[in-house]
Amino acid sequence: MARILDGKELAARLRAGLKERVAGLGFRPGLVVVRVGEDPASGVYVRNKDRAAREAGFESRTLHLPEDTTEDALLREIAALNADPAVDGILVQLPLPAQIRAEAAIAAVDPAKDVDGFHPVNAGRLASGLPGLVPCTPRGVMHLLREAGVKLRGARAIVLGRSQIVGRPMAQLLLGADCTVTIAHSRTDDLPAECRRADILVAAVGRPEMVRGGWIKPGAVVVDVGINRQPDGRLVGDVAFAEAAKMAAAITPVPGGVGPMTIACLLENTLEAALARRA
Ligand code: NAP
Repeated sequence: MARILDGKELAARLRAGLKERVAGLGFRPGLVVVRVGEDPASGVYVRNKDRAAREAGFESRTLHLPEDTTEDALLREIAALNADPAVDGILVQLPLPAQIRAEAAIAAVDPAKDVDGFHPVNAGRLASGLPGLVPCTPRGVMHLLREAGVKLRGARAIVLGRSQIVGRPMAQLLLGADCTVTIAHSRTDDLPAECRRADILVAAVGRPEMVRGGWIKPGAVVVDVGINRQPDGRLVGDVAFAEAAKMAAAITPVPGGVGPMTIACLLENTLEAALARRA
């Protein structure tokens, strides 16, 4: 049976460490989460981010704009936050209402305050192997792998999914850690066979329990980024946990694996952005 990679415990430890560092700074790093409209899942995420930031001693607030906000109006709000010296980190919660292009909102954030790491400048820096703000979820996955002592150099890693927010940056981080990386997606031929070659498998597809036990190389490390709500209310990942846990050496649970790491890494990014701006 696989070892469980406990993201809840690690995230709590990271947050406690951040709280200590922030207490010693002499100022409170400022985070603003911008929410537009009433997407219910976003409401939960935004509240969780705000609470975690306050608990760690950050100055956190939510700018909640109405559903019918125009793209121009949102860009003006973002410009004002870019210009506000008390604001170190700006996060525009996705999804946005249909009248606003997400890429326009993301590109409007000052890259130095882009604590989501989605701005093309930060994505480009990551792809070029340069330092920058890194998307929170992949950053959290790297923490989990490193904390578990997983051998990265030379390991074959597969990332299922090529989204801007998870799959692509995840693959870049694994590459930067000297893994041999395969990026798979919905057009990949014989996905199970690709998966069976991997020492490290990161699933970020948004398909409940798609990755079966027979897809896992015996002794592999399995990281499940997926969060899928089942009709009965249960949360499941992209990996069939019970089957995969019989094959893997280590595996993240859902919930309690990658999810809690994302918020901890948002706080890390905000502290990093605050320190870099004051350096
Ligand atoms: P996304 O933008 O929908 O991207 C999904 C990716 O999976 C796409 O690249 C897609 O391929 C690929 N894919 C879809 N079906 C596939 C299939 N049958 N076989 C192989 N690849 C397939 O999703 P995302 O935003 O990256 O999120 C992925 C999952 O992670 C979701 O469950 C989401 O809820 C979760 N998530 C969790 C956290 C967290 O904090 N834990 C954070 C963000 C996201 P194509 O490119 O070919 O379409």
